[in-house]
Amino acid sequence: MARAQDSRPVETDDRVDARALEGPVDLDHHGDDELDPQAGDGQLDLAVNVRLPRPPAWLQARLETALTGLAAYPRPEAAVSAVAARHRRDPAHVLLINGAAEAFTLLARGLQPRRAVCVHPSFTAPEAALRAAGHPVEQVLLPPPFDLDPESVPADADLVVLGNPTNPTARLHPVSTLERLARPGRTLVVDEAFADAVPGEPATLAARQDLPGLVVLRSLTKTWGLAGLRVGYLLGEAELVAALARAQPPWPMNTLALEALVACSQPDAVAWADEQARRTAGWRATLTAALDELPGISVTPGGQAPFLLLRVPDGPQVRARLRGLGIMVRRCDTFPGLDAGWLRIAAVAPEHHGRIVDGFSQSLSNPQPALVPAPLATPAPSPATGRVTLVGAGPGGADLITLRGWQALHAADVVVTDRLADPELTTQLQPGVLVVEAGKSPGTHQLSQEAIVRTLLTHARAGRQVVRLKGGDPFVFGRGGEEVLACAQAGIPCSVVPGLSSVTSAPTLAGIPVTHRGVAQSFTVISGHLPPGHPDSTVDWAGLARSVETLVLLMAVGNLASIAARLLDYGRPPTMPVACIQRAATPRQRVTRCTLAELARSGAAQQVASPAVIVIGPTVPTLQGVDTDCLPDHDTATPQQEAKLRTRFGEHLDDVVSSL
Ligand code: SAH
Repeated sequence: MARAQDSRPVETDDRVDARALEGPVDLDHHGDDELDPQAGDGQLDLAVNVRLPRPPAWLQARLETALTGLAAYPRPEAAVSAVAARHRRDPAHVLLINGAAEAFTLLARGLQPRRAVCVHPSFTAPEAALRAAGHPVEQVLLPPPFDLDPESVPADADLVVLGNPTNPTARLHPVSTLERLARPGRTLVVDEAFADAVPGEPATLAARQDLPGLVVLRSLTKTWGLAGLRVGYLLGEAELVAALARAQPPWPMNTLALEALVACSQPDAVAWADEQARRTAGWRATLTAALDELPGISVTPGGQAPFLLLRVPDGPQVRARLRGLGIMVRRCDTFPGLDAGWLRIAAVAPEHHGRIVDGFSQSLSNPQPALVPAPLATPAPSPATGRVTLVGAGPGGADLITLRGWQALHAADVVVTDRLADPELTTQLQPGVLVVEAGKSPGTHQLSQEAIVRTLLTHARAGRQVVRLKGGDPFVFGRGGEEVLACAQAGIPCSVVPGLSSVTSAPTLAGIPVTHRGVAQSFTVISGHLPPGHPDSTVDWAGLARSVETLVLLMAVGNLASIAARLLDYGRPPTMPVACIQRAATPRQRVTRCTLAELARSGAAQQVASPAVIVIGPTVPTLQGVDTDCLPDHDTATPQQEAKLRTRFGEHLDDVVSSL
């Protein structure tokens, strides 16, 4: 636990939001600053912690009715009694205030602390108010996960301020810890602005009259959607309340705020707030679980407030990227003890969780840009308008992309990849390029096609050069056509760079020609995604079995046995050779061979894992037994390699090589 003696002038404390230090600024105002006035309704505001978009209808109705009483001077008695009853306190212990922020100023001006301590990370307004009133402030900085050890607070501190639950850590200090902080001769200020958002309020000290020097601050702002009304209250010893009240101007509370205090202190209103708190706690739990699954992000454990404090690898970048996606989050480097790697988000309803998780997953990707390779050519200057370029990445293996594709990739601001593109291609981009992984592997987090298209269009509309990097060729079973259409419909310029498709490159890399003079003059490419006989299948298996020499199957791993059986039924010979090329062009490339009958009947099909290209046809054994490592490059084959080949192929070697 670190304790920092902080006597620097306020203006130079770069950990604290400068605006917070100018005066008692409410935290909600800070969160509000994250919102983009231009962004309109589409933005998802996770920065502000006011939980309702507007006060509940019944409360709004009461406030409207109270408008008719505005001709009269406000009378606080009913509100004081209501608050006192809610917390089982004497009315003399209640001071009504214009939001907790006012209390910080009153306390800072009314108290004369010899040694004031603020426990951080926490809301900065109390410290700002104390400094503004001329009091030096010491900070007790709690390290993650922000447990409070009472021993870390200097024993002779006569003013100690902390939040419970604490904003922005969401941690709730237990009553036993707080009890150890209270002592005669010390004012212990507990900011409970979020206490009513914790189900059952297990750690509130609002009703405690036995703890010396205790001051509890409460707010109606967050729970009741009343940030604009400025309404809260302070609970403390009668003498302190009386002294602070004397420092308030006449009629400090307005009629509407008083009405809200009465209304929100009633038992049924308190019960409703507790229900809301329980619901929000559930939302926080599910959102925490979903975010914790994303690599690179960690949610501060043990949170009990209606928000989450997150640690991310590159906070400013993640925040900016989220902002680009219309998701506003609260920066936390304005809180003492936290740096830019921390972000706070509101625990909002589950209907937003998908968007939040997608947004973080996109914004977190490529956290540590790798070394930048020398570009092959100077990238073209970015045009002012955004565009989308579909780039075929080739079958795998970063060196199998085309030169044009490579250039487009290195001119991109945003790259949206799929799982078949070699990851090395995207680890070599310029720092700052946003890499969105649209699908890592089957079963792990994948963006829906709709989310992919939305991502492409959002970034392009924002004027960015977007590359959609797709395995193989973009137009071979890759939904590339749909993405082009979506761009066209949205009026976004779009171009396509072809790629080496696995259709032919996987067989080639396995030493299997799909045609060969005198052996096969035709080959057909088929998606095996649907099994034969499936109502949605448009494949003419009977015709294929009879008319085409070589069949190349993609996306067929799950249906191999039934496809083989159907081909046999339609007359393909049982001895027809088959090759399954798994993970072609990667270091884990594996080629297995069998006959069509074995594929249909033995367990051969079960041994094949996706992604795989299946070749069924007479060319499969054509080059079998040739060490293909030495075969492809005839010109550079060593004399020994060439001799080996000639032994096997005799004078046909030149034909064999030229057929590759
Ligand atoms: N557009 C891609 C194909 C996408 S469909 C292309 O042109 O290659 C996905 C299928 O492609 C996989 O199910 C598999 O059949 C095949 N595939 C893609 N890359 C592969 C690889 N490296 N090894 C084996 N099969 C691959």
